[in-house]
Amino acid sequence: MQNLIGKKFLDVQNDVNECAKNAGRAQNDVKLMAVSKFHSIEEIESAIKFGANLFGENRVQEAVEKFSVLLQKYPKINLHLIGSLQRNKVKDIVKIASCIESVDRIDLICEIEKQCAKIERKIDILYELHTAEESKSGFANYDELFSAVKYTVDNCAHIVPKGFMTMAAFTNDEALIKKSFVQLKTVGKKIQDAFPNLLLNEYSMGMSNDYKIAIQEGSTIVRIGTAIFGERNYDK
Ligand SMILES: *Cc1c(COP(=O)(O)O)cnc(C)c1O
Repeated sequence: MQNLIGKKFLDVQNDVNECAKNAGRAQNDVKLMAVSKFHSIEEIESAIKFGANLFGENRVQEAVEKFSVLLQKYPKINLHLIGSLQRNKVKDIVKIASCIESVDRIDLICEIEKQCAKIERKIDILYELHTAEESKSGFANYDELFSAVKYTVDNCAHIVPKGFMTMAAFTNDEALIKKSFVQLKTVGKKIQDAFPNLLLNEYSMGMSNDYKIAIQEGSTIVRIGTAIFGERNYDK
């Protein structure tokens, strides 16, 4: 079981490198995030032993339980939060995550700034854009995103904006999936042009079922759970 995870991680890593190459991109252009939600510390450790160093979790309590332990033991790994975040959970997550990818409203940005200021640390964020019907989260369009970035620049000394994140529709329709990723790139580039003093070059897009398309469309972080750890057991 444990070694199987290591093997799958290496398989996915090779495939990500291959896709990057085929898309005419440098290999280290695309980072592989192992999405470890619903998986145990032991399972995560077996991925670490095979070289995984970036992890994603979507629930704060679960992230804290596992990664307060793991980050002590493996100080070189990084954790990103990728799930919707409530204000009252911000103070716990900013202590362990290096990046919050699922920033989708200004009151959240405000709270992240407040909690990071308290503990005197800086945190990276990505702005989530809503690009598919199924998903409920994310800024709706360019104007909303612009306001959020402007708010961050004007008010948040402890937040470092790094780029954008989205979730495509869960479908076999490749054209529809591609549309989400193209939309994120298009809106993201327009925001970058509007804020030349920021470096907004991270595009977190692509999951187990659609990362190949995402890499073709310019993803810099692919978020892979199932293809590395197997199916999630939601009853646990
Ligand atoms: C769970 C999750 C993933 C990983 O999904 P898989 O299909 O298991 O690869 C990626 N991104 C987000 C935001 C998630 O919540």
